[in-house]
Amino acid sequence: MNRALLKNYSLAELEDWVESRGERRFRARQLFRHLYARQATSWAQCSDLGKDFRAQLETDTHLDVLSLRAKHSAPDGTVKYLFSLLDGHTVEAVTIPDPPRYTLCVSSQVGCALGCRFCLTGTLGFKRNLEAAEIVDQVCQVQRDLSPGVQLTNLVLMGMGEPLANYDAVIRALAILQDPNGLAFSHRRITLSTAGLVPQLRRLGTDSPVNLAISLHAADDAIRSDLMPINRSYPLQELMAACRDYPTPPRKRITFEYLMLDGVNDDPDQARKLIRLLHGVRAKVNLIPFNQHQDAPFSPSPEERIRAFQDALLKAHITATVRQSRGAGVGAACGQLVARYAET
Ligand code: SAH
Ligand code: SF4
Repeated sequence: MNRALLKNYSLAELEDWVESRGERRFRARQLFRHLYARQATSWAQCSDLGKDFRAQLETDTHLDVLSLRAKHSAPDGTVKYLFSLLDGHTVEAVTIPDPPRYTLCVSSQVGCALGCRFCLTGTLGFKRNLEAAEIVDQVCQVQRDLSPGVQLTNLVLMGMGEPLANYDAVIRALAILQDPNGLAFSHRRITLSTAGLVPQLRRLGTDSPVNLAISLHAADDAIRSDLMPINRSYPLQELMAACRDYPTPPRKRITFEYLMLDGVNDDPDQARKLIRLLHGVRAKVNLIPFNQHQDAPFSPSPEERIRAFQDALLKAHITATVRQSRGAGVGAACGQLVARYAET
């Protein structure tokens, strides 16, 4: 019999599961508390559960589904965690401390099928989707590893993979992460980044209305399709229509990520097109210095071109920030997550 991955279950499903094993439903709340609030590392610690039940849990379930394989700290405080999955694949998660805010960037897939030309994860190709438990466990394991008294405050789905291409598991994981009986993250503190899978994006607003970040990277279809093949299926007009319809809460905005690639998408004409594209959208723009790597045929834009691009947006009253790239020293910056070296 396959062991059950309990971190895949909502509290209601866990109630059904304990009942199916002849236990009373209230046991599920105890289990949930051990899994999340108490961050138990073995069933032996859970003395309120009864010896026989604990013995069953030991043989029939997985408490953790990831094991920590390596951990690298960068001088700027960023920490990259490499986790092995039960089948030997690996994924990465990155903490970005900015007290009092502690953000965790989690992965949603092993590799990615979307093949954006600038992205190292994309070069890995697609290996498999993560299960909800494997997404949730990244949060549990990192939380457990933090110094006493330090609490993760924010989550971003910006690690390896395209979260909306693994829709059901991501929605399930988001619900578990937000459960007030468990880790209790508010949806206002969770941001999902997508390359723009429009049909799933349209469902997300109803299923789990978290903050949205769109990897835009170009303001016209020709350039965007060249950089991001997904744009051929869902061109800018469709993507922007879905963004306009997204239920962004009052005082919140959609973040548009825009990678600055030298001589590709960083000239004044592109800035003008971007301003036009964002007309009528509650938007802020995050300009991202390109993290160079050997597999990408691009170079980062010079700093003065990034500043000029930013100024053009600011003059048009669009909030535009330049992302501080963090974690580059340990290969933990955006687009550097690949976990390839550990697969052998
Ligand atoms: N698949 C999702 C989320 C993961 S990628 C998405 O594409 O949005 C997270 C972010 O890193 C995206 O904005 C992506 O475009 C960006 N990124 C990818 N490669 C990068 C690189 N080499 N330098 C900087 N950012 C990169
Ligand atoms: Fe996939 Fe996002 Fe990388 Fe594109 S940028 S290949 S969607 S992980």
